[in-house]
Amino acid sequence: MPRVYNFSAGPSMLPEEVLRTAANEMLEYGQSGQSVMEMSHRSKEYQAIIDRCEELFRQVLSIPANYKVLFLQGGASSQFAMIPLNLMNQSGKADFVLTGQWATKAYQEAQKYGECHVVASSKDKTFSYIPELDPAAFTKDADYFHICYNNTIYGTRFHDLPDTGSVPLVADLSSCILSEPLDVTKFGMIYAGAQKNMGPAGLTVVVIREDLIGNARESCPTMFNYQIHADNGSMYNTPPTYAIYIFKLVLEWLIGLGGLEKMKEINERKAALLYAFLDQSKMFRGTVEKKDRSLMNVPFVTGDTGLDAKFVKEAAAEGFINLKGHRTVGGMRASIYNAMPVEGVEKLVAFMKDFEERNR
Ligand SMILES: *Cc1c(COP(=O)(O)O)cnc(C)c1O
Repeated sequence: MPRVYNFSAGPSMLPEEVLRTAANEMLEYGQSGQSVMEMSHRSKEYQAIIDRCEELFRQVLSIPANYKVLFLQGGASSQFAMIPLNLMNQSGKADFVLTGQWATKAYQEAQKYGECHVVASSKDKTFSYIPELDPAAFTKDADYFHICYNNTIYGTRFHDLPDTGSVPLVADLSSCILSEPLDVTKFGMIYAGAQKNMGPAGLTVVVIREDLIGNARESCPTMFNYQIHADNGSMYNTPPTYAIYIFKLVLEWLIGLGGLEKMKEINERKAALLYAFLDQSKMFRGTVEKKDRSLMNVPFVTGDTGLDAKFVKEAAAEGFINLKGHRTVGGMRASIYNAMPVEGVEKLVAFMKDFEERNR
């Protein structure tokens, strides 16, 4: 069977080149006589892999020297608790913009640890837009201000960042990290689960400004303390060794491609193809406000649930898999992360055109 085009929201496709390299190195990595999976994380060979991975990540994302990179586990979802445990310790307050389910989960978890304010929400219209932010509504002495930069389920993204002054901006970048250049200095901290744009599930990456480390509350579990991981080079315990190795291969692929400027260009081409088709179609339509459209996740509907189901089924039979939309939106969603080739989107659009013709 030929490889399918996987439009899943995550885990998602990996570049074929990365999979081939991993396959070639499966039985023996370099001259080590073993696979990466079997290596001691304390070995010289493995230390070289994790060091190179961090070096390439810093290079690709232009991460300044005063930010730590942490390779953790527990998914982006664990960060919803780790962030307040580590950061919510001066005023005990934090601000949140509710733009979807993940943003809401971050808010709900933080409520266990302090005073949480909702600055704005787009829940009134099923999170189909990014709300306007009124700086007068920001909490002046908040310990942090949290946003979900790209809303995986609803297909919206921030185009302008809130100016939070001296309050550290914390962003969930799980579904958009490395999709385009990013000015890391605008953030106190960013975090992302790896399984959308970086590698396999099991690795969570945190980039945090050094001055925000070291103030965890007393009750913070050791494994949830950023300082512990920073002081131990992400090796306090066994890190997700193989996922970090694959992330290194993905970074090498990204650099070979031309880095984030080039990645952005490719991603914009893919998104433009799909949105342009949706905007002229008489059968399909996008579900979010145009100005807030995501570059990575494209939800769309026909307006007829029976037809939606037929589309998803027929598409899968043609090798376009995981197009079913999230249950709260219905319809379809095409996640077109970094590793989705332009050709995959071209073929999907051709299939959609044909489906529309046949089902008029
Ligand atoms: C996928 C996703 C999550 C959840 O990630 P896990 O690694 O499964 O915990 C959180 N936030 C966003 C924006 C996501 O896309």
